[in-house]
Amino acid sequence: MSRVINFSSGPATLSETVLRQAAADMLDWRGSGMSVMEMSHRGPEFTEILAGTGSLIRSLLGVPDNYAVLLLQGGAIAENAIVPMNLIGRTGQADYVLSGVWSKKSMKEASRYGQVKLAASSKDSGFLSMPAQTDWRLSAHASYVHMCSNETIGGVECRWSPDTGSVPLVADMSSNIMSAPLDVSRYGLIYAGAQKNMGPSGVTLVIVRRDLLGHALAATPSAFNYQLQDEQSSMYNTPPTYAIYIMGLVLKHIQEQGGLPAMQVHNQAKADLLYDFLDHSTVFSNRVAREDRSRMNVTFFLKDESLNAAFLQGAEKEGMVQLRGHRSAGGMRASIYNAMSLASVQRLRDYMHRFEKANS
Ligand SMILES: *Cc1c(COP(=O)(O)O)cnc(C)c1O
Repeated sequence: MSRVINFSSGPATLSETVLRQAAADMLDWRGSGMSVMEMSHRGPEFTEILAGTGSLIRSLLGVPDNYAVLLLQGGAIAENAIVPMNLIGRTGQADYVLSGVWSKKSMKEASRYGQVKLAASSKDSGFLSMPAQTDWRLSAHASYVHMCSNETIGGVECRWSPDTGSVPLVADMSSNIMSAPLDVSRYGLIYAGAQKNMGPSGVTLVIVRRDLLGHALAATPSAFNYQLQDEQSSMYNTPPTYAIYIMGLVLKHIQEQGGLPAMQVHNQAKADLLYDFLDHSTVFSNRVAREDRSRMNVTFFLKDESLNAAFLQGAEKEGMVQLRGHRSAGGMRASIYNAMSLASVQRLRDYMHRFEKANS
C-alpha cells in the first residue's frame, strides 16, 4: 500500500488511525453484525454513535449548555442560505465582513433573504488580509454579523476573536474549526462542513445559541429549521450517519492527541515551517499580511510562474499531490489541516528547498 501526501483543501487527508479503525469496523461495528452504513438512524447503535460524536464536539470545544449542537446535511454553502433563513428574521438585516471568496459568497447568498450590509472588506488589499476590527462598521439593528474565520482559497485567517457587542457573531469556520482552542461563547452561531478538519464531506456542524432560535422565515425548509432540528436532536430527517461516525473517530483521535491545545501547537509548528521558508526564499513568495496568514492553507507563488508546471510535476513524483492553488487564485496552496503530519510538511519544505536551489 502506498499513500500519497495529500495537500488537498477538502475533502482532505484523514489520519491513518481513523481510516484503519473504519476499515476494521466496516462489516461489523462492535459486534452489531452491521456496518454503520446499514444501521437505522433511530436504532440503539447509531443513537450511541450520534451521542458520542455530539459529546466529543461539546467537550473539545467547551460548548456552553445554552448552545445547540446540530449535525446536518447540506454543507457550508447551504448554510450560507440556511443561516439567514433562521436568523435574519429578527430584524430583517445582517452585516457581512468580507475577507475573500467564501465570505463574498456568503453575503451574496444572504442578500436573497433580507437586507445585507457590507460592514468591512479587505477587497482593496486584494483580500490578502483580514479587515481590522477598528474598520468594522457595525449596525446596532443587524440580526447578526457574519464573517469567515479562515478563507480557504486566499489563505487568510482571522486569528483574533472579533467583538461585535450585543449583535451576535456568526462565523463560517469550515476550514479552521478544531484547529485550536475556541471560545464558543463569543459567537452566536458557528457553522462548518466536516471535510477539512473533522471528517468526510456530507455532515455539517452548526453550533447555535438557543436564544437566537424561533425567528425562521416562513419559507425555511423544515429540515433546515434549527429549532426543529434542535428539538429532535438532529433527527428531523435522516442525518448523514456514516459521516457522523467518521467524524466521531476523528474527534476521538484529536482528543487522544491532547485536544485542541495540542492541535494548536502542532498546526503552528507546521505553518511556521512553511512561512519561514517562504519568507527567506528567492523563488517562492507568500502575499498574505503576516498577522493574518492561515495556519491551515498556506498559499504561495513562484516568482517565475513559468516554473509552475515543473514544480507540481516534481512534487507529484515525490508523492505530494494537490498543491495547485484554487483556480480563482492561481499559484500554489498547501492545505495542512490537523491530520497532516509535521514530517509531511517537512518533506514539502525540503522539496521546495531543492527546487529553489535547482532554479535560482
Ligand atoms: C470548503 C468551504 C466551503 C464549502 O463547503 P461545501 O461543503 O462545498 O458547501 C464553505 N466555506 C469555507 C470557508 C470552506 O472552506
